[in-house]
Amino acid sequence: MGETKHAKVLIIGSGPAGYTAAVYASRAMLEPVLVQGIQPGGQLTITTEVENWPGDTMVMGPELMVRMEHHAREMGAEIVSDHISSLDLSQRPFTAQGDSGTVYTADALILATGAQAKWLGLPSEEHFKGFGVSACATCDGFFYRGQEVVVIGGGNTAVEEALFLTNFASKVTVIHRRDSFRAEKILQHRLFNNPKVEVLWDHEVVEVVGSDAPRGVEGVVARHVKTGATHTVPCKGFFVAIGHAPASELVKDQLELHHGGYVVTKPGSTATSIPGVFAAGDLTDHIYRQAVTSAGMGCMAALEAEKFLAEHGADAGRDMTLPLGYGAEVPQDAAE
Ligand code: FAD
Ligand code: NAP
Repeated sequence: MGETKHAKVLIIGSGPAGYTAAVYASRAMLEPVLVQGIQPGGQLTITTEVENWPGDTMVMGPELMVRMEHHAREMGAEIVSDHISSLDLSQRPFTAQGDSGTVYTADALILATGAQAKWLGLPSEEHFKGFGVSACATCDGFFYRGQEVVVIGGGNTAVEEALFLTNFASKVTVIHRRDSFRAEKILQHRLFNNPKVEVLWDHEVVEVVGSDAPRGVEGVVARHVKTGATHTVPCKGFFVAIGHAPASELVKDQLELHHGGYVVTKPGSTATSIPGVFAAGDLTDHIYRQAVTSAGMGCMAALEAEKFLAEHGADAGRDMTLPLGYGAEVPQDAAE
């Protein structure tokens, strides 16, 4: 039987949203406990240069997240290395079960579990995962020195991953299902000007092919979305960069979700459909999904949790199933 740890404010997730919430909640003397999860620092730890974090023309993603963690600790947040396997939001204090055996109870909860990479869902993709199929160029790109690789996707992640892979690979083919990218123009410009890159427009990947002795990728079968014609693009590495899905598994039966799993929050607020439970960052955001917007929502969540606790206290009971919009009030004076 593990220990029980109580927090006035429990923060789940250690990306920009979680650490920012921890800074603000600490400064409100709420002694927050932050559970980091299996990816301490979140998504930015799997990228290289971040060029749109205000105040830094360029900062490496992992370095930025180490700084955020340090900031949260210095302000007084308790940072715990654990992963939450289940949550009970049916009564206050809320309860979270950690993989370590620790049971966390909390008077207010900030969910900042972010998002996870999406996969194509092909059996052959699954078969070669870790054997040439990857969703993280910064983690695995090094293995493809002098070899050909394929990236699928047309967003910022795909273009950045492709550019990063040109540091190692002899050729990078980007396969996209449309005839234009949604990635930022500056990134597209860099991609189109890189001689190692070829773009295969209007194609989807229908199969990953390879050998089993030893297991490894040898190519992907690309199909033209209009004509249906297929051909094999040879590659040793296949990088899937088709977006991210919100990590809402913990709350899917307890909170309102929309757009394929994003937690619904009251407009202009981080309040969820359960009073005292706040959600911030990519978990709630199907539009912007940036480090700076996630951090902003982390700030809002901490200020709203502070207001909620001031009004409802730790011991007050909670009405269940209040409709969205009737939960914690948005603090009008939060910025004062
Ligand atoms: P995340 O960063 O996703 O962090 C989620 C956290 O929740 C993790 O710490 C994880 O361990 C934790 N967690 C999840 N489940 C559990 C659980 N059950 N128990 C405990 N903890 C849990 N944005 C930019 O603004 N600029 C960029 O240059 C940029 N580059 C990017 C490059 C890549 C390759 C990717 C993938 C994304 C990039 N983004 C960039 C987007 C940015 O990383 C995200 O918008 C941001 O990280 C979201 O922050 P977050 O705090 O909501 O969640
Ligand atoms: P994204 O913007 O959602 O792009 C996903 C891409 O994958 C789209 O081009 C989409 O095609 C394609 N796609 C989706 N499902 C597919 C499928 N089943 N088969 C083939 N292609 C598929 O995701 P992202 O690039 O991971 O970015 C996520 C968020 O993080 C964004 O908000 C992004 O701005 C942010 N981010 C920012 C930076 C930065 O600021 N430098 C870097 C990385 C990520 P369609 O275009 O046809 O929909």
